[in-house]
Parts: sequence; structure tokens; C-alpha cells
Amino acid sequence: MKEKVIELLHSTSSSKNGEGIKIPVSRPDITEKERREVIEVLKSPHLSMGPRHRKFEEIFREYIGSSYALTVSSGTAGLHLAIRALRLNSQDAVITTPFSFISSSNVLLFEDVLPIFVDIESDTLNIDPERVRDYLKKKTKVLNGALIDRESGRFIKAILPVHIFGHPVDMEPLIELGKEYDLRIIEDACEAIGSEVLISQSAKKWKKAGTIGDVGVFAFYPNKQITTGEGGMVVTDDPDIASYIRSVRNQGRGEGGVWLLHERLGYNYRMDELSAALGIAQMRRIGEILKMREEVASRYNELLKDVEEVTTPIVKPYVKMSWFVYVVRFRSGEMRDYVMSYLKKKGVESRPYFPPIHLQPFYRKLFGYREGMYPVTEEESKKTLALPFYNRLTFEEQKYVVYCIREGIAEWLRKSVT
Ligand SMILES: *Cc1c(COP(=O)(O)O)cnc(C)c1O
Repeated sequence: MKEKVIELLHSTSSSKNGEGIKIPVSRPDITEKERREVIEVLKSPHLSMGPRHRKFEEIFREYIGSSYALTVSSGTAGLHLAIRALRLNSQDAVITTPFSFISSSNVLLFEDVLPIFVDIESDTLNIDPERVRDYLKKKTKVLNGALIDRESGRFIKAILPVHIFGHPVDMEPLIELGKEYDLRIIEDACEAIGSEVLISQSAKKWKKAGTIGDVGVFAFYPNKQITTGEGGMVVTDDPDIASYIRSVRNQGRGEGGVWLLHERLGYNYRMDELSAALGIAQMRRIGEILKMREEVASRYNELLKDVEEVTTPIVKPYVKMSWFVYVVRFRSGEMRDYVMSYLKKKGVESRPYFPPIHLQPFYRKLFGYREGMYPVTEEESKKTLALPFYNRLTFEEQKYVVYCIREGIAEWLRKSVT
């Protein structure tokens, strides 16, 4: 085993990955089964919205445990349709997290809905239900029965929690707040397929991420737990939301299926049959896939447990985790940045997941956001680093990654004292 690590240490870039990358940050797991399913599509006359997409929806619905599952062309498209399905508009605002992939907030802007960011918990990196409660108590008022954000004058209609890195948000208090303030819940479960969360401590009731709110969205981009190339899925128990999304993803066509009858403004957010075929094959292996990821994560935990400068991911007792990425935290932002470039030099890819959304250039420009407004998000996002993480990452490769992290830290410590 030792030799393998040494071998990686001295090997030059493998041409397979290019750019001197020995270990990529993510890699889809496509087997012969997936290839066969996709080839079958190419032999059939149906390339878009045919039998495979219906089958994929059926398999997904059953796995997740929702009444409806609807394929869409991406997670972003799914989130956008969820916003439309709840009829949110330019008079409305939605409570969400600034620590996420940008699309969870962008979809609000698509419809001129105002995102109201609430800072995160420093341990889970998820939106902090206590801060949501605090915001609702102190910064809103009720006018003619409607809940209004005092600063903007917008109607607060919903909460959009993001189950970040596969770790579900503490949903029990959010569900309570939703009831108390009459807010809808849109779950961004794009990183959390298969995760579960305790939604009632007293009743010991668990639910899968994505099935708790009014509508939940999953994504199948190649770095996610399962992939369809590009693709996403919207799940809901509400028949009206389901039929609206079925129509709007397909150019606003009606349920009757008349091809050139458009009942409302719609989009082309359809999933093609090649993607659906890939999705079916991946879903058949979902148990095995999540187990492999779990094993990779626990090997990292073991390898990193005595690296003092690094904190490994936290999994709360109210959570059953589905691992999207493996994100560690360094003592400081400077150390993180140093180790990140050190890893790059050693052929190890990593990513600073995620820079705060509110500090992205166009958010600053549009809303006047500045540093200091969401201190927990800003502080933590300087220290986080996503390590190489995929189903078939080997123990030897992980040892090499951790070896390089140790070396990078040592080099940084030497430099920072002189
Ligand atoms: C991946 C992701 C999305 C968007 O999914 P796409 O399929 O890439 O559009 C949305 N939200 C989060 C949190 C994600 O990680």
C-alpha cells in the first residue's frame, strides 16, 4: 500500500485526466449497464420524453416516497419551476441561505422574487432555523393577514432550505415555523438524494430529504451522487403542483396531450431519453452507490482524524447522510488557500465550496451586499475545501491526498513563522 502512495507521489500527470491532474475532484461512475441502456435508446425512435423518462420518474418516485416525480432538464430548471408553481412574483420574498451553489438563489431572481438571506449554523453549514425564527420575529410585520418583510415591503411567502453537501437541514423547527407563519417550503435537495432527516423527535419519524416541503428538487449533474449528464427531478405530493410543472416544463402544453395546444407560458425544460436511460441505470444501483460513497467518507475520516489543523465533516444525530462531497475545514482561510494550491501542484484537484452567494459580483451590484453581512457564512466559506470524492476513489489515492494535505500544512506552517 505504501508503495502505491509513493508511486502516485512520483508519477507525472496521467494523460487521461490532462492538465497534470492525478486525482480529480469528482468523477461519474458509468458502468457497462449504463452504456447498454443508452445504446438501446439510440436504437429506438424515442429520443425525448418517451418511455424511459416515464420509467425513470416511476423508479424515482418509489425510491423517494413522494406521490409525484417529474423529470426536468436540470436541477436549476426544477427549482425554477418550483418557484413558478408556487406563483411567486415580484411582490414576494423567500427566506434562503447564502451558503449554497448559486442556482438555489438565482431561481428566485428569474421571477423577480427577493431572496432574504439568513445566516448558517457553523457546524452543519445549513441555514440556521434559530436565525430564521429570529428574523421572522424581529424583522417582519403582519398587514391585513399578510406577512411582510419590513425593510423591502415584500410579502414573505416561502422558505427555501438547501441540504448542503448532502447533510439535511434541521427540518423539524423549520416545519414548525412554516406552520406558524404560513410559509411554503421548497427544498433544494440537489445534493441530498437518499439523505434522511428526523422530522419529529418525539414520534421518531424520519423522512427523505426533498419529500418534506411542498416541493423538492434533485439534480443529476455529473458530480452529483447519480448523474444523467444534465438533468433533474421535481417531487411533490400536491397534484396541482405536479400537473402545473408537467405542463410548464413542456412549453405550457395541457394535460390532454394535444401537441400544439398551449394553455400557458412554458419552457423547454424536458429531459431527453438518453439522460433518462442513464438515470434508470444509476437508480438501479443507488443503494450500492451511496454505500461506496459512505465508505470513501469514513476512510477520509479515519485518515484525517489526527490532522489537527483540519476539521472533518459533522453528521448530526438527526441525519442519515448521503454523501455528495467531502468538505473539510482548515484552521484559517490563508491555510486553506495555501493547501489548495499546494494540492494543485501535486496533481490533486479540490474546490473551495462555496463562496458566499451574497458576495458574488452581480449580487453585490443588485442588492448592495458587503462583507460582514452574513459573518458565519463568510468566515466558514474561507476555510472549507472539497477534497477528491467519488465512488471508486481508492484507499491509496485517499492516502496520497491526505499525505499532500499534511505536507501542504507543514510547508505553510514553516512559511508563516518566518
Ligand atoms: C447542483 C446544484 C443545483 C443545480 O443543479 P443543476 O442540475 O446543475 O442545474 C442547485 N442547487 C444545489 C445546491 C446544487 O448543488
